[in-house]
Amino acid sequence: MTSLAPSDKALVPFVSVDHMMQIIHHIGIEEMLRGLAAAIETDFKRWELFDKTPRVASHSPEGVIELMPTSDGELYGFKYVNGHPKNTREGLQTVTAFGLLADVASGYPVLLSEMTLLTALRTAATSALVARTLAPEDARVMAMIGNGAQAEFQSLAMKAVCGVTEVRLYDIDPVATAKCARNLRGHGLTVTPCQTAEDAIMGAQIITTCTADKQYATILTDNMVGSGVHINAIGGDCPGKTELAPAILQRSTIFVEYPEQTRIEGEIQQLEADHPVTEIWEVLTGQAAGRTAPEQITLFDSVGFAIEDYSALRYIHERLAGTEFFYPLDLLADPDDPRDLFGMLARARPV
Ligand code: NAD
Repeated sequence: MTSLAPSDKALVPFVSVDHMMQIIHHIGIEEMLRGLAAAIETDFKRWELFDKTPRVASHSPEGVIELMPTSDGELYGFKYVNGHPKNTREGLQTVTAFGLLADVASGYPVLLSEMTLLTALRTAATSALVARTLAPEDARVMAMIGNGAQAEFQSLAMKAVCGVTEVRLYDIDPVATAKCARNLRGHGLTVTPCQTAEDAIMGAQIITTCTADKQYATILTDNMVGSGVHINAIGGDCPGKTELAPAILQRSTIFVEYPEQTRIEGEIQQLEADHPVTEIWEVLTGQAAGRTAPEQITLFDSVGFAIEDYSALRYIHERLAGTEFFYPLDLLADPDDPRDLFGMLARARPV
């Protein structure tokens, strides 16, 4: 049994990839997606309490490495995450991540966790939370364009949180679509693989774009998007990396996480810097309007913001107590006399 006694303050719980998979199966993936959506909603409603900054990005020709910090004054969190679209060709993930949560009062870390799986879950939970807020109330069909690592999570979150019953899949790589359809079997969704993006969006009230290509791509052209839909644009999340034709943005009411970051990274990098956008936390707190007309196109220009990772880490931390889903990690020096760091080192010298 792995458990931390209160005196083990210097041992930091570490949630490995294997532990995270056990946690997800223990809770149940749809229950966890609902729990994460609730945690993110709670924290978005406390938006003004948080330190906020656009993430710190280190760009290279093939990808980006980013740090995403935030704090509410009690807990501090950050995530390390990369985005390398060419990685899948080399058998590597496009996105990998890990993160840390710390106690602001002492500065001591209270959790270190894998966040590749957790990012897929929190991104999907955020998408579904926003779709529940903005999509037509009777939305039951989602087009899922881009059937890579995030796709099943996005599909199941829309089912668990919004009541979506059918997903229509399209990817330029039919192998990815076949993988996604296979993985979604037995989860209570009608899954329809499609030959084209146009086919996938037929009859869909929610359109999710989740592709990876480091360019100004056009996954959706203007004439493909009818009135009244909700677009959940996930893949455009980096300077020079977008998915939607600018004309679609001009016809849509645009909702974002944190404008200072989204204007650098999101679809709206294609628009004037003062193009109006609504922050989703303001809709959740009732300070701004969401969907106001059935024919309106609502667009969530998702890039992923630090508070979502903070919420996800907080959710995991709260569920660890009394479980075996972590290793106690000897991450912090803990001399008996806090000022005798050198003495601790000296006593450890091999004889
Ligand atoms: P992935 O590489 O596993 O999958 C991407 C899929 O897109 C691949 O199957 C590829 O064949 C497909 N694709 C590429 N071009 C296409 C096109 N023109 N039409 C249809 N399909 C196309 O990547 P992933 O981990 O699923 O991530 C997808 C995207 O989401 C990435 O760009 C990533 O950076 C982004 N992302 C955003 C957030 C967020 O919070 N907004 C979080 C995680 C990932």
